[in-house]
Amino acid sequence: MPDILPEAIGPWHRIEAAVRSTMHSYGYEEIRTPIVEKTELFKRGIGEATDIVEKEMYSFDDRKGESLTLRPENTASCVRAAVEGGLLQPGSVHRVWYHGPMFRYERPQLGRQRQFQQTGAEVYGVAGPAIEAELILMLAEIWRRIGVFDVASLEINTLGSSNDRTQYREQLVAYFNDHADQLDEDSVRRLQKNPLRILDTKNPDMTELVENAPKMADSLSDESKEHFEQLQALLAASGLKANVNPRLVRGLDYYSHTVFEWTTDRLGSQSAICGGGRYDAMLEDFGAKNTPGVGWAMGMERLVALTENLMQESASETISNGPDAFVICTVKDEVAAPLLLTEQLRRASPSWKVMQNTGSANLNNQLKRADKLSARCAVILGNDEIAAGTVTLKPLTSKNDPQTVPLSEAAPALSSILGS
Ligand code: ATP
Ligand code: MG
Repeated sequence: MPDILPEAIGPWHRIEAAVRSTMHSYGYEEIRTPIVEKTELFKRGIGEATDIVEKEMYSFDDRKGESLTLRPENTASCVRAAVEGGLLQPGSVHRVWYHGPMFRYERPQLGRQRQFQQTGAEVYGVAGPAIEAELILMLAEIWRRIGVFDVASLEINTLGSSNDRTQYREQLVAYFNDHADQLDEDSVRRLQKNPLRILDTKNPDMTELVENAPKMADSLSDESKEHFEQLQALLAASGLKANVNPRLVRGLDYYSHTVFEWTTDRLGSQSAICGGGRYDAMLEDFGAKNTPGVGWAMGMERLVALTENLMQESASETISNGPDAFVICTVKDEVAAPLLLTEQLRRASPSWKVMQNTGSANLNNQLKRADKLSARCAVILGNDEIAAGTVTLKPLTSKNDPQTVPLSEAAPALSSILGS
């Protein structure tokens, strides 16, 4: 569960701002749900046979013995909140998004933490492939806005309707049972509970077995085929390349029809930056009959790492985060004057970052501190200035001369220095 220290927060803020602006462009509203929920919610919403519920949840009993869990993902919580909040009236449509920490007991490694941040979007009340296209195009737009579009690739698949899947499941179980001697331990366990997940195995020894397994595509109803073909046509018309990956099954038990994942080849083995899909059955199970649901979640740490990698590659200039003004006072024991001047400048322009020197030091040392912080202008109060009611502004990022102005003119003078 990593800390993010102030020196590392820059890319987070840039990505979060891009996400927020994209959500606004697409008309999605933010939703915030608790970090702790009843364990039951996740067992039901994610599915007992999933990796998350089987082995990745942080669960504990509260003082009354009720089992609670730190949320491992947010789709189930959002559905619960929408149902309890009365959002899911028949015929209504909701587009929501969230951002926050998730918790999974995994083996920590590069790109995989036990606390990680997800941003996600969910749409309730829309059945067709067009909304899936919207959700996918929105991701492409986020990638553009944070500069990773060129290194992100999209994989899609269909899991068909629940009827299609029941049929397919039977075929798969029969096939894997015939080849039981070739299954690894994980797959033997999955065969009973969640045989589709075997297709998702990362064990190279099973590649051939999985390659030759029956294909979902052969079990699809005409309606399911049509749904998937329409989605592909919409993405193609939008100029987005989508690779169909028949082995993409995703973790959630409830997925049906479209599932997708965005990956990158720039992050080593933890290559998935975003996953999503349609989960109509979950809403039905939570009491929202005839309200379809579809959404995605992306991993913020992996996106931060990706933008950092790309920045290094292009050796682009680091974005300065230094103060616009650094207020210096060289008069011993004078506390009020620099404090009030700093406040005056902050109030003059809320967009300025204005900081005050802390601790006493001579002028040179205080100027060195200003430089170290990459301040753009030093604002100096010395004996002469205090006596005359003036202030001296010394530009630090240009060769322009310092200027001394009456205290009341400090803000306009700073403004013209920063503007030039
Ligand atoms: P993976 O196959 O990498 O375990 P997942 O299918 O478990 O991913 P989802 O539940 O779909 O992941 O979560 C969506 C995204 O959240 C992932 O694509 C990934 O970017 C990110 N993510 C998931 N688990 C972690 C983790 N433990 N640490 C960091 N990011 C994560
Ligand atoms: Mg996982």
